[in-house]
Amino acid sequence: MSQFPLLDRLRRPEYTGENRCRPCTAVNLGIIAVVGAVIAVWSAVAAVLAVAVGLAVLALRGYVVPGTPRFAPRLVEPLPLDFGHSEPPRETDALSDVGDGTDGPDPGAILESLVAAGVIQDDGEQLFLNDAFREAWTDRMATLRAADESELLTRVEDASPVDVEAQLHDDHVLLAGGQDVWLRRAVAIAETAAVEALEDWELSPDVRALAARPLRNFLRTCPVCGGPVRESTRKNCCGGTSSVYENPEQPVLACEDCETVVIELD
Ligand SMILES: [Zn+2]
Repeated sequence: MSQFPLLDRLRRPEYTGENRCRPCTAVNLGIIAVVGAVIAVWSAVAAVLAVAVGLAVLALRGYVVPGTPRFAPRLVEPLPLDFGHSEPPRETDALSDVGDGTDGPDPGAILESLVAAGVIQDDGEQLFLNDAFREAWTDRMATLRAADESELLTRVEDASPVDVEAQLHDDHVLLAGGQDVWLRRAVAIAETAAVEALEDWELSPDVRALAARPLRNFLRTCPVCGGPVRESTRKNCCGGTSSVYENPEQPVLACEDCETVVIELD
């Protein structure tokens, strides 16, 4: 804490100081310059003001444009410059991606073991989730939502298939281990709860984490807010917040209330 409490509240140490992402800063400086030049055509005073605010935000918060940590490293990758940050942690879409990259059993085999264990039931026409499992899973998601940061992170670490150290950064969990990966908080909550709930079922422990991702297809409530989940597309549910690399027509299961994407549908 400094003598400027307001500055401390604005400051985000996870993106500044030694944690500053250099590609993000470079990309944002470029964006601030372009915005300043465009406004200068209209008013020099407004341009100076806009650039000053932009630089202040960049200094305090690490970046100005939301989502920069996700797209900036890839944006500057083709440039022949060394930002000292050549391998940023990957954003992955499943707890099971944290491992060394070796593939586990194929998705068909995982589904078979879930059906054999009774977690997923097959009435001959369609697959559905066992009611008792859904209840246990939903309860655990609720306790993870309500948990404080250290409890959430401990449970994510315990559910991870490999040894990791978890850190919370806004709506992402960083899993630091052999290979650092980012996991969206929604995925961390849904899959940690699934792995915990699966402990009561006849399923080999190494299949639990692998089963957590396909199980997300069966979610009816949002891991983050508990709201109802429905089928949508990235464009319809969360336009503007996704990076330029994401496919706007991608079908997703998303929360009606908070627009969190629960899973990308195949
Ligand atoms: Zn939600």
